[in-house]
Amino acid sequence: MLFKDLGLSAALLKAIDKKGYSQPSPIQEKAIPQVLQGKDVLASAQTGTGKTAGFTLPLLHRLGESKAKKRPVRALILTPTRELAAQVYDNVKEYSEFLNVRSAVIFGGVNQNPQVDLLKKGVDVLVATPGRLIDLNNQGFLKLNQVETLVLDEADRMLDMGFLRDIKRILALLPVKRQNLLFSATFSKEIKKLAASFLNNPVLVEA
Ligand code: AMP
Repeated sequence: MLFKDLGLSAALLKAIDKKGYSQPSPIQEKAIPQVLQGKDVLASAQTGTGKTAGFTLPLLHRLGESKAKKRPVRALILTPTRELAAQVYDNVKEYSEFLNVRSAVIFGGVNQNPQVDLLKKGVDVLVATPGRLIDLNNQGFLKLNQVETLVLDEADRMLDMGFLRDIKRILALLPVKRQNLLFSATFSKEIKKLAASFLNNPVLVEA
């Protein structure tokens, strides 16, 4: 299987080529076609499996070229830690190099002003940790009512870190009609319950 057989756009194939990947990893081979079709996905994947590209590439493909002048957030990727947020953001930047897509990352523990400035300019893809996201939303710097795709990355770690309430609050800010992707290394009762609470007929994908 080659990346070009998965149905990704030429701009994405160019970025993949630049990264030097020769073929999709198992999780990518399974997840990418499902995400491209607009399905909700429940994926079991550890770090190191290529899961980030597994959701980022098809998400970027679906966003396509932005036509709107004022860019509302259309894809939201939630991560448990700022380190992971920064890593995922780096991936988004690399894969979107040949696309007209704007992205940003926001997390706590740093001055919010540069993040607010970016949001004011308009962002198509936002990578965020839950606390800072809620904070900036409460202050009116962020609207999430145009989100088309939500990704929860490392959902098990998010629950371990006590983010369940924050996740529920964020879910309530999103449009009802949207695509949901949940990636987790482990599947406790709590994760299954969370998944059941917001995924619609999810396709199960394992690395
Ligand atoms: P992740 O599991 O998303 O953290 O990715 C782990 C590492 O694998 C990262 O350094 C990626 O750049 C790399 N990677 C992702 N997809 C591929 C691929 N198809 N071929 C080779 N390396 C990849």
